Formats: sequence, structure tokens, C-alpha cells
Amino acid sequence: MPGQAERGSGPLIVWFRDDLRLADHPALAAAAAAGRPVICLYLLDEASPGLRLLGGAARWWLAGSLRALAEALRGRGGELTLRRGAAADAVAALATETKASALFMNRRDDPAGAAIDRAVTARLGADGTEVKSFAANLLHDPNALRTGSGRPFQVFTPFWRQLRGGSPPRAPLPAPSRIAGASGVATDALADWHLEPTRPDWAADMRATWVRGEPGAQRDLEVFLAHGLKGYAAQRDRPDLPHTSRLSPRLRFGELSPYQVWHACMHAADAGRAARTDVEKLLSELGWREFCYHLLHQQPALATVNFNRRFDAFPWRQDGAARAAWQQGRTGYPLVDAGMRQLWATGWMHNRVRMVAASFLIKHLLIDWRAGEQWFWDTLVDADVASNPANWQWVAGCGADAAPYFRIFNPVLQSEKFDPGGDYVRRFVPELGRLDASSVHAPERAPPLALSAAGVTLGASYPAPIVAHEEGRRRALAALATIKSAER
Ligand SMILES: Cc1cc2nc3c(=O)[nH]c(=O)nc-3n(C[C@H](O)[C@H](O)[C@H](O)COP(=O)(O)OP(=O)(O)OC[C@H]3O[C@@H](n4cnc5c(N)ncnc54)[C@H](O)[C@@H]3O)c2cc1C
Repeated sequence: MPGQAERGSGPLIVWFRDDLRLADHPALAAAAAAGRPVICLYLLDEASPGLRLLGGAARWWLAGSLRALAEALRGRGGELTLRRGAAADAVAALATETKASALFMNRRDDPAGAAIDRAVTARLGADGTEVKSFAANLLHDPNALRTGSGRPFQVFTPFWRQLRGGSPPRAPLPAPSRIAGASGVATDALADWHLEPTRPDWAADMRATWVRGEPGAQRDLEVFLAHGLKGYAAQRDRPDLPHTSRLSPRLRFGELSPYQVWHACMHAADAGRAARTDVEKLLSELGWREFCYHLLHQQPALATVNFNRRFDAFPWRQDGAARAAWQQGRTGYPLVDAGMRQLWATGWMHNRVRMVAASFLIKHLLIDWRAGEQWFWDTLVDADVASNPANWQWVAGCGADAAPYFRIFNPVLQSEKFDPGGDYVRRFVPELGRLDASSVHAPERAPPLALSAAGVTLGASYPAPIVAHEEGRRRALAALATIKSAER
């Protein structure tokens, strides 16, 4: 093992995780400024305890984002080193092998990742390797904000008031213009990790939808600022319109930081290119992302344990056929089906439709929210350890500050209200493509002539509703009553 003095002049390791970017990357900026060779590491860790393994869509995204990162680093003199293994062993092994003097990383904000980082820090510290970590991926420290009585927040509005009312987030950092690469460091080949599907290759629509990696993220942000942000507050619930940012996978993988999004939006408002109401609404959505991490710190098992333990006694149904119909977008409710098919095809679903589709599974079908959460985890490109379970619990009514369980979305009314012309439904449910706006939200109510003219045969080309709305609603309220009466 090299001695302390020998290590003191060794290269620096920058360990990339959910921060696959060069701009506004405090760990990389600090390492590049130190003027020493930098080893840029990405570690595929499927072995450390407590980490949730990536789902299929997220693995696909990761592959593209890593390719883009490697190319961007190469353009500035650096090299991406890929390794695989449990973090504590693999990072320590790399540090020893390269005689690294220090490890720089941006802080992980989920409890499991943070615990692994503490173990790595202790291990490297014992070997005399310095470790520095930086805040980069959240606007707040999830353990810092507290209510007046010193407790973590469980309600969004006061949480957001405190976060928004505090000092403004720091300005984003530029990407380093030059990174002194360290030569001769062995790396895995990305292709050997088999992150992308081959047989069958289910990712064709995803490739057509997204350009993964930081340059694509920056372009998406610019497009949103130029075209989507104007009208965001009023139109963000419309899945048929391009008024949300679609930045969620960018933030999930850290191709953009929330600091960059925040300041870009504020700048647009200051320059008169965006209305304050639109910008404030967008910032508050970033606030929800922060709040989900705040909740995850209060309940690290957020994906499996009801935040409100009263729901532990909820009488969920086992219904494999209904669950499969939901997954495949064959429930007979066009808005739910459009959303589930958008998810399968593109790895993303509009927020309003996520709420309606999740509510349908939980309330109309009485299927445990955890089954839906797991399906989203496997199929979303933005699948996030905090946002996914927190939102599922919110819809299920068992989360902190949740929507009340008894508020049950009517999927037909939601469709009429938020996709008034039916364009979104027609895009993702092509067998309903020739139905007009008066029939497309509820084909079972359409006149037979309209159906036959549009080539729709209910029960054959498109399913009849797998449960009638009123029946589903009655059953859901009866199920809720059982846990209410169990309390007495
Ligand atoms: C059942 C369900 C599951 C969800 N799972 C995820 C998930 O795994 N990952 C994820 O990033 N979001 C999740 N969301 C939240 C939300 O649907 C997505 O963040 C949003 O649709 C992303 O689209 P956008 O980037 O266009 O959002 P915009 O409206 O443009 O919002 C900007 C950013 O704010 C954040 N944001 C917006 N709404 C929320 C929210 N409700 N909770 C947390 N962050 C939010 C996202 O980072 C988003 O990119 C889920 C919502 C529901 C109802």
C-alpha cells in the first residue's frame, strides 16, 4: 500500500452517480481546478445493501447517458472509467490501484446511498485517502428543514413556504473547460454491462423519443423555456399539449441539476420572456421533488411501507387479469389505456395521467399501490427512489399530505376535461383513432353507428370497461370503510 506522502500527489477520483453531467458538477469542478490528473469513475453497483436495482427503462437510459458523458469528458481531455461491484470494495480498490490522493463526489440524497457513501468514506479515510463531498442534486439538505416545533415536514405547503422563503439557491457552475485525464486506468466496456435490450429490442420508441445525455438535456431545457413555460401554470394538466418540461429523466440522472433549471427559469422571468406565475408554478414542482426526498428520509422504506400505517389493514384484491389489463393499457378506459401505453412505448407518462392511471389501479381495481409502484419503477425512464413511492402513496391516500382516499377520479370526466379534443387518447390508442371527441373518452357510450363507422368493435378491437365506474367507486369506498371501522 502506498504511504500517505506518495498518495498526497496522486490523481483525484471523481465518482459520478446520479449526476451524469459536466456543467454544475461541484465535485468535478473542484477536481479539475486542482490541476491534477482526474479519474472519472462510474460504478455499476448492484451489490451494496439497501440499493434498489434499476428497472429496465432506467437501465436503458443509463447506457445512453453514460455514452454521452464519456464523449463529453473525452472532448475535454478526460476519460470515463467504468467499474462494477460493491462500492466500498470497488472504490477502495481503484484508489489503491491508482494511488489516488482523494475522492470527490456529489452527495447522494437517498438514505441508502448516503449510508454507502459513509462506508466508502470511512474505508478510504482509514487508508489515508481524503474524501470530499458536495451538495449538487437537491436544493436543500433533506435533514435540515424543520417545522416550528423542530419536526420534519409532512405537509407540502409549509415545507415549500420555508424552502422558497430561504436564501435563493446558489448559481450553477460552468463545466470545466479542461480535465486532465489519468492514463492507463483499466475500464469495463459499457456494452458488457448489457444495460440495453437486444432480444427483444423493446426500446425503439424510446430511442425515437429521447436523446439521452447532457447535450440533449440542455436542448430540452431550451425548448421548454422557449415554447413550453409560457402557459405552464394553466396548461400543465393537459397531456395533449406540450406544456410540461419533460425534464424528469434529466433530473433523475442528473443530466441537469435543479440549480440549473431554477436559474434558467428565473432568468427567463427576469428577462420578460416568462410570466412569474408560470415560473413560480414550475419552481413549486421542483419543490415537490425536494419534498419527496424529505419524506424518504422520514421513511426510508417508502416503497414498501405505508406512511400512514392505518392502511396496513387495507383489504387489497389479488386479480392478476385486471393487473395485466392495466399494465397493457387494456382497461377499456381510454385515458388510462393511453397513459399506460405511452409509458410502455416511451418510458414516460404525463403527470395528470399518472395520477388517473394510478388511482384507477388502486381504487377501481383495489390492487395494492405497491404493485403499481413496482411496474412504474420498471418502466419509467425517470423512476426515482423518492418521487415514485411518494407519489404512489399520495394517490393511494396512505402518504403524508395525501389526496384523501375517498376522492376517486372518474377516468371519463378526467379525459373530457384534460384531453378535450381526444388528441392524446388517439395518439396512444390508435384503434380509437377515428372516433370523434364526443365518443373517444367513453366508447361504450357511443352510438353503435359511430363505433362501426370508426371501425371499433367493443370487446374485440377495444375492450369494454373492465369495471364500471360506479361499481368501482362503491367497492373502493366499502374497502375504505373496513379500515375506518377497524380503527374504532
Ligand atoms: C403515480 C406517480 C408516480 C410518479 N413517479 C415519478 C418518478 O418515479 N420520478 C419522477 O421524477 N416523478 C414521478 N412522478 C411525478 C411527476 O409525474 C413527474 O415528475 C412529471 O410527470 C415529470 O414530467 P415533467 O418533467 O414534464 O414535469 P414538469 O411539470 O415540467 O415539472 C418539472 C419537474 O418537477 C419535478 N416534479 C413535478 N411534479 C412532481 C411530483 N408530483 N413529484 C415529484 N417531482 C415532481 C420533476 O422533476 C419534473 O421534471 C410521479 C407521479 C405520480 C402521480
